[in-house]
Amino acid sequence: MELFDWMARGGHDRLLAVQDSASGLRAWIALHEVTRGPAYGGIRVWHYRTESEAAMDALRLSKAMTIKCVLAGVRGGGGKTVVLANELKDRAAAVEVLGREIEALGGVYRTGPDAGFTLADQQALARTTRWGVCHAPELRPSGEATAEGALWGLKAGLRALGENSLSGIRVAIQGLGAVGLVLARRLQESGADVVAADTSSEACEKGVALGIDLVDPGDILAQECDVLAPCALGGVLHDLSIPRLHTRMVAPCANNTLAGPNNAAQLDALGVLYLPDFVLNAGALIEGAGHDASGQSDWEKELRGIGDTVTEVIRRARADSCSTLKAARHLASEMLADEKSLEVPAEVAEPVGA
Ligand code: NAD
Repeated sequence: MELFDWMARGGHDRLLAVQDSASGLRAWIALHEVTRGPAYGGIRVWHYRTESEAAMDALRLSKAMTIKCVLAGVRGGGGKTVVLANELKDRAAAVEVLGREIEALGGVYRTGPDAGFTLADQQALARTTRWGVCHAPELRPSGEATAEGALWGLKAGLRALGENSLSGIRVAIQGLGAVGLVLARRLQESGADVVAADTSSEACEKGVALGIDLVDPGDILAQECDVLAPCALGGVLHDLSIPRLHTRMVAPCANNTLAGPNNAAQLDALGVLYLPDFVLNAGALIEGAGHDASGQSDWEKELRGIGDTVTEVIRRARADSCSTLKAARHLASEMLADEKSLEVPAEVAEPVGA
């Protein structure tokens, strides 16, 4: 399918190509939805095989951000920037040029860090745009907000399995980074039995300091547990890894945990409850976008809402005999359609003869 047709079908607003020969900047800025408020989405710096692969990644990720915003109750839409890492010559200068382009959009697009976007990049970005808002310095680290939101979702998922307490619940965590380590600590404090793995020795040391049982990274997905929480990379649940799982529920913080569209049904068939990652990991978006809109920094009630969304998604999946992934996507589409139908022009909304 041609690019414009693909964008039209997916309801994409625009795709901007940004380049600067001197710094080696080559980037795509994808804005999926801009009518609900600003488009929110981070900057990913990644190695892509081709420009079109990068463009498609930006488009898909921006659409996923819209779904995340809708389900999280954030008044905004989805955006995403991808920078082709292999083309960069002067990284700081490239990020500054990118910042100027984002600034020129006048706040329609508001951004923050995504995979591969470092602290030094954030500092370079702040030199040329005011719209690097997703992780404002007044807010706590994003990993903490994400872990807290995920915990509410995880508890709601457990309730659907008849478990009303975390005490004695065995949770296997892949990745003890910004999100996974906080999640591990919070779970332990609530009486859960945590086992984890990380490929970095530094992260493992932090896990040991918390008293967490560590296993080899190659063994974490197959752990016998109640909950598996992938908190490292996307695409870890696929045709080969899913049959090796020994868990009752998957509660991912990593984005795009499922490698392909059929993997949700595969988990269902095995009787494993899957909580969609874009519902569970919206905590930092809720806090970042909320702070951007109101200046407020306490979003506990909204983070709890992730639990309510998980409950509703599971209810719908059970009622419609479909996967939780499908149920979550339907719920987001319905919510968007409801909003659009409320936007009836005043002259049409007036009752006839009034
Ligand atoms: P991070 O880089 O701080 O942590 C990731 C950890 O995973 C690292 O410690 C890394 O060593 C480890 N790791 C990498 N490969 C591994 C493997 N094969 N096995 C075990 N461990 C491995 O990242 P983060 O901020 O904690 O984010 C984790 C995931 O959650 C990412 O997929 C991210 O996109 C997603 N996410 C994060 C946030 C946030 O607020 N930080 C928000 C939404 C989604």
